[in-house]
Amino acid sequence: MSLNGKTAIITGSNSGIGLGIAHELAKAGAAVVINSFTDRDEDHAIAKEIADTHGVSARYIKADMSKPEECRALIDQAGACDILVNNAGIQHVAPIDQFPPEKWDAIIAINLSSAFHTTAAALPKMREAGWGRVVNIASAHGLTASPYKSAYIAAKHGIIGMTKTVALETAEEPITANAICPGYVLTPLVEAQIPDTMKEYDMDRETVIREVMLKRQPSKEFATVEQMGGTCVFLCSDAAAQITGTTISVDGGWTAL
Ligand code: NAD
Repeated sequence: MSLNGKTAIITGSNSGIGLGIAHELAKAGAAVVINSFTDRDEDHAIAKEIADTHGVSARYIKADMSKPEECRALIDQAGACDILVNNAGIQHVAPIDQFPPEKWDAIIAINLSSAFHTTAAALPKMREAGWGRVVNIASAHGLTASPYKSAYIAAKHGIIGMTKTVALETAEEPITANAICPGYVLTPLVEAQIPDTMKEYDMDRETVIREVMLKRQPSKEFATVEQMGGTCVFLCSDAAAQITGTTISVDGGWTAL
């Protein structure tokens, strides 16, 4: 599964799943572009660590995925774009009648619309290179719903629909588009939900993890960022050249229930 000679852009890759994917793609030989909206010294250090660890080129490019022009500028600045991983995402939890409209807009912009803008900018580059892979990080929440996550669930269902459309529009070309649907992975995004859930249910941390989060995940284990990265490498490999327009669930059986 060598990705030597390929360049991968991973949006939202200075932590969590995006960082795990960046490591696995780099381990497979791809040059990687790390992105976030922050532009701290640590962000550049992450790129350097990936380059040093895997012996590939790695650099950091700042772009705020809530801004259409920055989404497109990220792809332009990166130069080549053989592999595009749309991973940037945020979450907000509230009943729909109390859901702040600005949070709705931010979630739709970062979790869904950014993938439209980056894909639109990346496809001409993939066509020029004669090869391309679009991998969208959706969610088990793109296939199922749960209360209080209306914007997130709408965005994740939306990105799966968009993935299928991109797959059909590129079906006769050496380009594929697929979505990965993670179940729970213990990243900063999930960590941030634990304190409020502890308060809401009057439970300690371990009980929240066991009885609220992993209750939905039949394996009773968190999936890992390395597993998301490995799935992404597979989707980029020649073995997956005929896999397009589909979703791969990495969710410990969540969506089998
Ligand atoms: P995380 O908080 O660790 O990562 C989110 C990433 O998005 C960070 O790198 C952050 O810098 C970036 N980001 C946020 N806003 C941005 C913006 N405006 N511009 C650019 N980058 C921005 O969380 P994670 O769990 O690793 O989430 C990554 C993806 O995986 C998200 O799309 C999330 O919805 C999805 N996902 C996560 C889980 C899980 O259990 N952790 C499950 C299903 C899907």
